Amino acid sequence: MLNGKTAIVTGSTSGIGMAIAAALAAEGCDVMLNGFGDAGQIEQLRAGLAERHRIRAGYHGADMTRPAEIRDLVATTVRQFGGVDILVNNAGIQHVAKVVDFPDEKWDAVLAINLSAAFHAAKAALPHMLGRKWGRIINIASAHGLVASGEKAAYVTAKHGLVGLTKVIAIEAANGGVTCNAICPGWVLTPLVEQQIAARAAAQGIPVAQASADLLREKQPMLDFTTPEKIAALAVFLCGDGASTMTGAALSIDGGWVAQ
Ligand code: NAD
Repeated sequence: MLNGKTAIVTGSTSGIGMAIAAALAAEGCDVMLNGFGDAGQIEQLRAGLAERHRIRAGYHGADMTRPAEIRDLVATTVRQFGGVDILVNNAGIQHVAKVVDFPDEKWDAVLAINLSAAFHAAKAALPHMLGRKWGRIINIASAHGLVASGEKAAYVTAKHGLVGLTKVIAIEAANGGVTCNAICPGWVLTPLVEQQIAARAAAQGIPVAQASADLLREKQPMLDFTTPEKIAALAVFLCGDGASTMTGAALSIDGGWVAQ
């Protein structure tokens, strides 16, 4: 379905981003990976995707807190693959603390990676998409882009902002062949959430399995984690022709979290 297209997926060395990169590659899309991690493992991931799906795969180590590196990620992708058709703004971090205890540097980092990075990447990629009159920008927001929880000031602020940015880009690009949508997952079992579960288990002196069940019960009517592959399937749908008039939407995939 996506033969000949090129995608950048930020934060694709782990979790949801890795699943999205693999799903796009399975549709014949060339992919530029990004994110931190062990160099050998990243190269294995890159080479594995290229070989398995007979696509071109690259890796760029841009730090999403640095606008110049984000611009270089887009420029390098255009140089290597001839363009950028799909941008998935996925890289994200979390920090949990009450507002009064929230470290300033954590606030700055969460806002930079989860929100400002999407602005800088979209700003750099949009001219290439509009030039070809085809593009898809997918922002991985969160249920926390639509509702709040305590102790997540920076994350909730960034994700609400990302949903706002999604709408602005959608309006501006509406007649340029480019759509922009946000995906708002509930709980997905990735390293980002595993850390939170481990911290809760340690703080409360309970087994990890119980902390995990408590986490789900607290927020979701449906007591199951969404898998990264299901988020990826939604991203692939948004890249298809069936979604060509879907734009500016914040799509929940959250086990009923925000239905309450
Ligand atoms: P993860 O920790 O498994 O992966 C995060 C990725 O971002 C990694 O590849 C990491 O290397 C990369 N990254 C972190 N800081 C970076 C930086 N400065 N520059 C470049 N890359 C950086 O997390 P995940 O759960 O897969 O999260 C992916 C996205 O999904 C995030 O935006 C997160 O907020 C969102 N999300 C996750 C959940 C969930 O339950 N896991 C729910 C809703 C939304």
